[in-house]
Amino acid sequence: MNLRRGIELKSNSELAIMREAGKINALALLAAVSVADAGVPTADIDAAAAEVLHKHGAKPAFLGYPGPYPYPAVTNISINDELVHGIPGKRRIKQGDLVSIDCGNVFEGFVADSALTIGIGEISTEAQKLMDVTLDSLFAGIEKMVPENKSGDVSSAIQTMVEKHGFNVVREYTGHGVGRHMHEDPQIPNYGVAGKGVHLRVGMTIALEPMVLSGNPETKIKDDQWTVASMDGKLTAHYEHSIAITPEGPKVLTALDHNLDLGSTFRYNNYFAGKR
Ligand code: MG
Ligand code: MG
Repeated sequence: MNLRRGIELKSNSELAIMREAGKINALALLAAVSVADAGVPTADIDAAAAEVLHKHGAKPAFLGYPGPYPYPAVTNISINDELVHGIPGKRRIKQGDLVSIDCGNVFEGFVADSALTIGIGEISTEAQKLMDVTLDSLFAGIEKMVPENKSGDVSSAIQTMVEKHGFNVVREYTGHGVGRHMHEDPQIPNYGVAGKGVHLRVGMTIALEPMVLSGNPETKIKDDQWTVASMDGKLTAHYEHSIAITPEGPKVLTALDHNLDLGSTFRYNNYFAGKR
C-alpha cells in the first residue's frame, strides 16, 4: 500500500466528519451482512454496500485503488481461507462459509475503513472460536489506544490475544493511519513489542485490523492477483474499525451507534444488529 508520509493529527471538526464517514461505512457493512446468505453471489453483497454509500453521498474508497490492476469493486469479500482483498463476483456463498467483508468510503474528503467476518448458517466450533478471538483481539488493541501509549502496546495486545488461543496474526499486512487518505502513517502491525513504536497522540486516527489465521501465518496471492489467502488453506478472519485517539480515550468512528463506548454495550453485537 502507498503510505502517505507523516502522521496527520485531526481537529475536532475533522473528527466529526470522520465519524459521519464511519457511520456510513457501518451502515454499508450492515446492508452487506443483511443480504449475505447461502446461494447469494458475492456481487450482490457488494451491490448492497455500494447502494448505501451512494445514498449517503459517499464515494467508494476501494474502487479503482491502485494495485496489480485498479481494484474493481466497492468491497473486499474474502471467503474461508481468503484473508483479505477478495474480489466480489459470481461466486455464491455456501452454508458454513466464513465471509469477511471490508468496506471503505470517502465522505467530505475523509476516509472510513472497517471490516467484519460473519458465519453463514451453522459453522464449526473452531470457526466460531476464530471469529470470537479475532474480534476480541481488535478490542484488546482498541483498549490500548490511549494518549502516551505506544503503537507497540496496541500491536502486542492483539498478538498476545490471538496467540494465546493458538492462532496466528498475519505479518505482511497491517493496520494503518486513516484520514484524507486511506493509508496514512503510522503502520500498526498486528504483532509487536509493548513499549516500542510510535507514541500515540490525541488526534491520531487509525484503522486497526487484526487479520488472523487459524493455521500457519504464511499467505499467498491468488490468481486474480488481489486475493490474499492462507498458504495452508485453513480458515481466516478479519475485523477492522477506524478509531480516533481522544483525551477521553479511543472513539470508534466506524461503530453503528453514536453512543458506543468501551463499556458493555461496546461489543460488536450492536454493530451486527440485524444479523441472523
Ligand atoms: Mg479495510
Ligand atoms: Mg484498512
